[in-house]
Amino acid sequence: MNIILLGPPGAGKGTQASHLVKTRDMIQLSTGDMLREARSSGTDMGKKVAAIMDAGELVTDDIVIGLIREKLEGNKQGGFIFDGFPRTLTQADALEELLNEVGEKLDAVIALAVNDEVLVDRIVGRAAEAVAAGGVARADDNEESLKIRLMEYYKKTNALIGYYHAKGNLVWVDGLAPIEEVQSNIAKALD
Ligand code: AMP
Repeated sequence: MNIILLGPPGAGKGTQASHLVKTRDMIQLSTGDMLREARSSGTDMGKKVAAIMDAGELVTDDIVIGLIREKLEGNKQGGFIFDGFPRTLTQADALEELLNEVGEKLDAVIALAVNDEVLVDRIVGRAAEAVAAGGVARADDNEESLKIRLMEYYKKTNALIGYYHAKGNLVWVDGLAPIEEVQSNIAKALD
């Protein structure tokens, strides 16, 4: 089974993806994680995208589609959770083609419903928790980048809701419910 977790920054996509990895043995493909890894290992691509990510803007479709292509070609057995990808209609079309090429298909798109005030609190809280635990907050987890990230979401990503609804893949889950309830609602949607 291959699924997309869709929702604005802070909706809980990463948290839900890790749970699915543990309980269903699925493979999480987070373009945000891949890009952060490219940055920290100092690759040319990582250097190129660093400023864009810190500002909260989307990196180019070519780059993220290339990252996903590499992962799909390396793991043809499926069971993918796309987390933070696709974020544009071009990426959504590319994903369909890439899945076709490896003999897979998309089974469901789980849209996490939240509201913007909660997102700001969660993201600012996530940054504070990271610092309290002795780590460093994500460079883009601050109110200024968050505003841009939300704007990018509404300008470029929100159209995917209509796109996947039209394809018949979309399932809404309340992302504001307690984490365990979100987990069980996603499980119900998938079973
Ligand atoms: P995330 O961890 O999913 O919040 O992603 C962090 C940042 O990485 C985003 O704000 C973008 O700058 C970049 N990014 C991640 N995934 C994508 C994508 N599918 N398309 C474009 N940019 C992305």
